[in-house]
Amino acid sequence: MLAEIQRLARPMRLMEVCGTHTTAICLSGIRGMLPPEIELVSGPGCPVCVTPNCYIDQAIAYCKLPGMIVASFGDMLKVPGTASSLAREKEAGVNVRVVYSPLDAVQLAVDNPLYRVVFLAVGFETTAPAVAAAILTAVKKGLRNFFVLSSHKQVPPALRVLLALPETKLDGFLLPGHVCMITGLAPYAFLPVEYHKPAVVTGFGALDILRAIMLIMMQVSGVAETRLENAYPSVVRPDGNPVAQQMLEVVFEPDDSEWRGLGVIAASGLRLRREYQDYNAEYNLPVAVAESREPEGCRCGDVLRGFVQPPACSLFGKACLPVQPIGACMVSAEGACAAWYRYGQGRWLA
Ligand code: SF4
Ligand code: SF4
Repeated sequence: MLAEIQRLARPMRLMEVCGTHTTAICLSGIRGMLPPEIELVSGPGCPVCVTPNCYIDQAIAYCKLPGMIVASFGDMLKVPGTASSLAREKEAGVNVRVVYSPLDAVQLAVDNPLYRVVFLAVGFETTAPAVAAAILTAVKKGLRNFFVLSSHKQVPPALRVLLALPETKLDGFLLPGHVCMITGLAPYAFLPVEYHKPAVVTGFGALDILRAIMLIMMQVSGVAETRLENAYPSVVRPDGNPVAQQMLEVVFEPDDSEWRGLGVIAASGLRLRREYQDYNAEYNLPVAVAESREPEGCRCGDVLRGFVQPPACSLFGKACLPVQPIGACMVSAEGACAAWYRYGQGRWLA
């Protein structure tokens, strides 16, 4: 495979959209195996990274209200907001709980009837069905103290925005296997059809990723026609998971959503349908939030747009470290900066 990759080599920029691909690429040293003409850039594929500061600030505002419990996946606690983080607020004594699934948050509401529980719902099409299931469970239980602050995002509209940015200059995409497991292939058909960009859905092992790179290179170099390929058929069915899709459809509808680094993208988010408005935190629990700001010097936005690689940020590995992240991309294990730092063994540092 590596010989074929060498043979097909020509200058090209490929984006791995999914944060787990970024981690696998860094961990397995794939970048070092590729000819230097092949540049792999990370995309907006980590749910923690793309959640904007204003969302974190809003969550912090909630956790400061009396009688409130904010429930979140662990990674979100460490993401710095404008003036604080949920972790810092937790240390100061506010009621923030780490949960491992949206259903745990429902259980928190059951166990704490005198509190209102706000679940921080972040993630792509992969996690949103579980949140939909949690809301349907809350309905069944007749809960009135469970709310969801939705920052769910859908990947395809973000790819359209990236393709419209002249600086990004992408020649092909490694598509997120887990997202496609839910959505199927159809939402990505526009990539070869409208933009003539190769797109290959792949798994998360080093060999899966190398094979997908080779398949994209075959398309870019004209050995194969430009198309959407499923190189992960053991997990991704062409029509995805219809049960999960239906659950999403019942509970959520598309909404404009703000992405870190990409701004507000039309119909890229998911909001609760009117029938489930009782569970919508924003609608039922209005809270004042001051204007949000990005940390000074942080280039997370440029990393998420694929403009630069993490070491281009002057804070990378110096002021900004996984133990003390300044930007969101250094927080989650799927974040590009964290992956480059953890598996780069310091060689990226000047
Ligand atoms: S949720 Fe799945 S597809 Fe999205 S970044 Fe994580 S592993 Fe990749
Ligand atoms: S090194 Fe830190 S501050 Fe710089 S882009 Fe990455 S996460 Fe943001």
